[in-house]
Amino acid sequence: MPSDTIFDKIIRREIPADIVFEDEHLIGFRDIAPQAPVHVLFVPKTPIATLNDVQPSQAEVLGRLAIAAADFAKQQGFAQDGYRVVINCNGHGGQTVFQVHLHLLAGAPLGRFGT
Ligand code: 5GP
Repeated sequence: MPSDTIFDKIIRREIPADIVFEDEHLIGFRDIAPQAPVHVLFVPKTPIATLNDVQPSQAEVLGRLAIAAADFAKQQGFAQDGYRVVINCNGHGGQTVFQVHLHLLAGAPLGRFGT
């Protein structure tokens, strides 16, 4: 079945989003329910449901997501202060949209996991 998540609809401009980056491979837009002062999602345009589904031949997809996030942090001036990137996978990871995506969280000290 073809991928048709809410993120596919954003990529196709069928629903609005605050888009901060786009190229031929991926799109970046602000999360609708931000968990930090800066919360941007980077999403590949290739349909891939979860991190489990990324094939070795698609390794570049993950590199592009990470580099896009770092470039955005540099452009916005918070790269040196720091930020967090997260990929949630399936139920225990808290994934709710089944098109693989990378969260970029920044703009304040985020604390450590598990504390
Ligand atoms: P996940 O839990 O799958 O890792 O992350 C999905 C993220 O997508 C959540 O942080 C959620 O707030 C965000 N989200 C869900 N629907 C929309 C939407 O329609 N627009 C935007 N911009 N973000 C969304």
